[in-house]
Amino acid sequence: MAGLVAATRLRDLGQAVALREKGTRIGGSMLLSSCVIWRHRDWSDFRTECPTGDERLQRLVYERLDDALAWLVSLGAEPVWEETGNPRTVGKRFDPRSLTETLGARVGPIELGADGSSAAEPTILCTGGFGASSELVTRYVRPAGPLRLRANPWSEGDGLRRAAASGGALTVGMDEFYGRNMPDAPWDETQFVALSQLYARWARIFDEDGVEFFDRAGVSWSETNVVQATARRRDARAYYLLDEQALAERVRDRTVAELVEAAPAEAIVPLADLPFAPPQGSVVAVRVIASITHTIGGIRVDERARVLGEDGSPLHGLWAAGVDAGGISSGGYASGLAQALVLGLAAAEDAAA
Ligand SMILES: Cc1cc2nc3c(=O)[nH]c(=O)nc-3n(C[C@H](O)[C@H](O)[C@H](O)COP(=O)(O)OP(=O)(O)OC[C@H]3O[C@@H](n4cnc5c(N)ncnc54)[C@H](O)[C@@H]3O)c2cc1C
Repeated sequence: MAGLVAATRLRDLGQAVALREKGTRIGGSMLLSSCVIWRHRDWSDFRTECPTGDERLQRLVYERLDDALAWLVSLGAEPVWEETGNPRTVGKRFDPRSLTETLGARVGPIELGADGSSAAEPTILCTGGFGASSELVTRYVRPAGPLRLRANPWSEGDGLRRAAASGGALTVGMDEFYGRNMPDAPWDETQFVALSQLYARWARIFDEDGVEFFDRAGVSWSETNVVQATARRRDARAYYLLDEQALAERVRDRTVAELVEAAPAEAIVPLADLPFAPPQGSVVAVRVIASITHTIGGIRVDERARVLGEDGSPLHGLWAAGVDAGGISSGGYASGLAQALVLGLAAAEDAAA
């Protein structure tokens, strides 16, 4: 998303821009997303939920998002919801395909299948983090087993490598990621949203060794903390044990029972086949695997999205936007799309200036 936003804004400002997209299509993970672009309703919640994030960048996202959403709407992007459905947050939901088309129609020529690595001119890095690189995920996130990818396949850390090669510094939170626990079964990108097993708060949560490693009372509303904890258990897997009461709980418009029924049969484990004794009252066990959507740590930038060196000074001619820029939602989770939108605009405006 950040690249489409930055290129659109640069053209708005009368600048010539070349958009290079490594993939076979535009839209990145935005196109696969639920497309709710949001911020915390209260500033204090943002700080509390993402305590180790860079306060200046959080402030930028928090303060600029409403105007940035209005800018998107002014381009012709039509929200499908005017609110997020979560009382803690405010924002808008768009249809990802139509938002991609709206931005794509304004960016000018796009070179597909081009990784931009040879670009010598001023560059805004917007490669979507490093979640698709098993090498970088192993090095920085250090999961106990391979994570499944729940995102576009092209975000392999090219922006991070380019920034690092130019002397750019990295942020805190390099071992953190946003993702979901997904059924431990085959699925594809059309099922990323529908198959998310987003009911850990009502489950008893065990690992392959039968250790109950996460207390459901501590599961955050986004469930990011339980997904990160699952990544650290053997094979990055967990079992959600559900009783009748848990099955009757609701996640938006569906019951947990309906979510479980929709999961592939391979992920539903008969209680007698579990590698440990299930807690009393359990009626269903679902085996899940930690799946990465995007990384949270990344390139250090300032409020103008300029890439910063180790000494804190900006590098000449290099910006980073979207989740290539790290350290905004560290310690928790905040909207990656909001980060892409606000930093994409900030980078374009600074580059143009
Ligand atoms: C199923 C799902 C649901 C989600 N739901 C939400 C949601 O509701 N709300 C929310 O805020 N976030 C959501 N997200 C996360 C959100 O999609 C990302 O945070 C957001 O897309 C990040 O924006 P970005 O511009 O950094 O990366 P992307 O949108 O992924 O774009 C990165 C682009 O860079 C390209 N690229 C990679 N390397 C290179 C290179 N070397 N040269 C050129 N191009 C390159 C990629 O192909 C891609 O097109 C969801 C994600 C998924 C997968």
